[in-house]
Amino acid sequence: MARYIGPVCRLCRREAMKLFLKGERCYTEKCAIEKRNFPPGQHGKTRKAKLAGYGLQLREKQKVKRIYGVLEDQFRGYFEEAERTRGITGVTLLQLLERRLDNVVYRLGLATSRPQARQLVRHGHFFINGRKVDIPSYTVKQGDVVTVLARSQKNPTIEHAMEEVKGRGIPEWLSFDPAGLTGRIVSIPTREQINLPVQEQLIVELYSK
Ligand code: SF4
Repeated sequence: MARYIGPVCRLCRREAMKLFLKGERCYTEKCAIEKRNFPPGQHGKTRKAKLAGYGLQLREKQKVKRIYGVLEDQFRGYFEEAERTRGITGVTLLQLLERRLDNVVYRLGLATSRPQARQLVRHGHFFINGRKVDIPSYTVKQGDVVTVLARSQKNPTIEHAMEEVKGRGIPEWLSFDPAGLTGRIVSIPTREQINLPVQEQLIVELYSK
């Protein structure tokens, strides 16, 4: 699956908010948003565009895509699945994105960022219910158990991440046993448990045109 490989701090500056794409650096003063909180590009500093309607909807969609590291086709696929599912489409869309395996690894504190979690999954460090899964977009279900492979339990990246994100906490819809490096999907996340400052309704409006 394709992925964005350009400069990532630029994406945060475009959305004028921290998207936390670089792990530890995002929490330091080296963060580009701390130093240059204006849109990238030659006219970034002087451009004062007031967003409304389509512009607002588009920015909201781009923001969510960038947070989860999903490109347009795959994102539209999630939206279509959310539309087919009973419930509030915008919330279902966020739930589907939260249930991606790379996001779960990040939320469990086994990686410092979603891009790092994605790479760890790709490298085959995780079991789901005892079976190896190396697909970052794999959708976990309630009751699934995510385990770090025995040979990866001493992986320096995972060990370092666990040390770094100790204070970050784990969302209520997940549980984690640090001794066995095992996580469990306790429930499907509610909107309140998805701690993201986004207005998902704007994305639904954008795709419903
Ligand atoms: Fe975004 Fe992190 Fe770069 Fe800051 S350091 S601009 S939060 S990716």
